[in-house]
Amino acid sequence: MKAAPFAYVRPATLDEAVSELVRADGGGKVIAGGQSLVPVLAMRLARPTTLVDINAVPELGELRADGGRLEVGATVRQRRIERAPEAASVPLLRMALPWVGHRELRSRGTVCGSLAHADPAAEIPAVASCLNAELDLVGPRGRRTVAAREFFAGAMATALEGEDVLAAVRFPTARPGDGFGFAEIARRHGDFALAGVAAHVRVAEDRVVFATLTAFGVSDRPVTREVADLLSLAAAAQDVPTELQGPLSSLAVEVVNTDGDVHASTEYRRRLFRTLAARELAKAYRRATESSQR
Ligand SMILES: Cc1cc2nc3c(=O)[nH]c(=O)nc-3n(C[C@H](O)[C@H](O)[C@H](O)COP(=O)(O)OP(=O)(O)OC[C@H]3O[C@@H](n4cnc5c(N)ncnc54)[C@H](O)[C@@H]3O)c2cc1C
Repeated sequence: MKAAPFAYVRPATLDEAVSELVRADGGGKVIAGGQSLVPVLAMRLARPTTLVDINAVPELGELRADGGRLEVGATVRQRRIERAPEAASVPLLRMALPWVGHRELRSRGTVCGSLAHADPAAEIPAVASCLNAELDLVGPRGRRTVAAREFFAGAMATALEGEDVLAAVRFPTARPGDGFGFAEIARRHGDFALAGVAAHVRVAEDRVVFATLTAFGVSDRPVTREVADLLSLAAAAQDVPTELQGPLSSLAVEVVNTDGDVHASTEYRRRLFRTLAARELAKAYRRATESSQR
C-alpha cells in the first residue's frame, strides 16, 4: 500500500514549523527521521494532510553538554549519540541505544522522534523516564518544559498537542557515585522488548541516596519507581540478584499490567521483569559504589 496524498513543507525556523502545524489545522504531522512515521503512512494508519519536515531548522540539530545536562535537539540522530564524545556523559542512554532496532535505523531515527512516538516498548522513553529528563515543547503559545515522567500519557500518547514541536530533550549527566543498568528481552535482537528495565543507583559515603527502576514493554508507558529501601535491604547479601527477586515480586504485579498476548503471558513478563530488575539493579549498585571511589 502507498501513503495517502499529503502536502510536504520544509520550514527553515522553529516558528515557521509551528505556523505550518497551525495552518494545517489538526492535519499536520512533524517528520524527523521517518523511521516510525513512514511505515505508518504507508499502511494508511495515519493520513496527515501536511508533513512538516523539521530537518532544515538549524537549532534543532544541536547537541550540547553543559551545566550537568546533555541537550539533544529534535533532529539529532540516535547514531550520533552512540558516537559523539559529549554523549558519553549520559551512560544510560549509551547503554540503551544498541537495543533500538538496527544501526541503519538509528542513523536516521532521532532521539526526540522516539520520545514523541511513545511506543510503550521503546528504549529511549524508558531512559528519559528513569533519569527524569526534561523535554522542551514549542507550540503556538510559546515554549514549555515537561518532565519525562509527566510526558508519557499512554500508548503512543504524550503531552504533545497537535501544533507542538518537541524541540529538545535534556538528560542529566552522570556524577561520581552514579551507577546504571539496562537490559531487555526480545525475541530477536532489534525487535521491540517483551520486557525491559533501566536502573539508576546513586551512592554517597557508602549509602544509597536513591535507586530508580524503570520497567518498559510491560505497561502502556514506562513505569518508574523508587526502590532504594529494597536495594539497601538486599545490597549486603552474598548473591544480590537472588536476594532481590523475592522483594521484587509485588512490584512485578504492580508494574506489569499488560494483558498477555501472542508473544508472552502476563506471568512470563512478570518473571522477566523480576529477573532483569534484580540483575540490573545489582549491577547499577556495584557500578555506583565503584564510581563513588574514583
Ligand atoms: C524495523 C523497525 C524496527 C524498530 N525497532 C525499534 C526498537 O527496537 N526500539 C524502538 O524504540 N524503536 C524501534 N523502531 C521505531 C523507530 O526506530 C523509532 O520510533 C524512531 O527512531 C523514531 O524517530 P524518528 O525520528 O524516525 O521519528 P519519525 O518517524 O519521524 O516520527 C515518529 C512520530 O513522532 C512524531 N515526531 C517526531 N519528531 C517529533 C518532534 N520533534 N516533535 C513532535 N513530534 C515529533 C512524528 O509526527 C511521528 O508521529 C523500529 C522501527 C522499525 C521500522
